[in-house]
Amino acid sequence: MLPTARTFINAFLHLLFPEACVVCKRVLNAELRFVCPSCRLALPYTDFFKDLQQHIDNPAGRVLIGRIPADFVLPFLHFQKGGSAQKILHAIKYRGAKALAYEMGYLYGERLCRASLPYEIDGFLPVPLHPKKQHQRGYNQSEYFARGLADAWQYPLPVWNRAVERRVQRASQTHKGLWERWLNVRDVFELTTEGKRALHRQAVVLVDDVLTTGATLEALYKSILPAQPRAVGVITLAYAGDAFA
Ligand SMILES: [Zn+2]
Repeated sequence: MLPTARTFINAFLHLLFPEACVVCKRVLNAELRFVCPSCRLALPYTDFFKDLQQHIDNPAGRVLIGRIPADFVLPFLHFQKGGSAQKILHAIKYRGAKALAYEMGYLYGERLCRASLPYEIDGFLPVPLHPKKQHQRGYNQSEYFARGLADAWQYPLPVWNRAVERRVQRASQTHKGLWERWLNVRDVFELTTEGKRALHRQAVVLVDDVLTTGATLEALYKSILPAQPRAVGVITLAYAGDAFA
């Protein structure tokens, strides 16, 4: 199809189904997607990456102390109930907006790769989704967030989406306490043969959508130990520890 024809069709579709900002619900211009310019400016950025001291000494980093020997724990946004990060996460999870997950990753990647991380990272390991959930949703939001991060970096970086597999989950975590949740998630991740080779002696960045108790990330970290990664960092779309404290 000719580019002009495609532009015309897109403009026509926009007239019929105008897209609204996922945060403030105002109708977006045809060339914009998901989040309007004023909401972009007002996103609750953590900006922990701007200060070397805060790469690990921040509320999210403190959650993982003694559990993951990470050199940086850098969530992109603060999560507040009813806030814009929650609306974005909701759109990503329940409205199938995988392009939004990618865009958030790209937006963060552009900023992060200019920050002085303690070493050159080798790639991103997104938290794998349970196969049944991935089938229902059609994609893994952490993987698309990681793809956005990788594509924004100054040098090519892999997204290891087959390095770790998630086994069948036993029961829902919704009504469980912290300890039970940890027991439940403890051994759901399994390093694949491909993963053992790919992650060997690499500086691995674990990627998740939301960091709350840290149980999932801790379990993921433990699963990659046989590959002997040389360094570990954590990047998430949001930090929600305060919201659930
Ligand atoms: Zn808006």
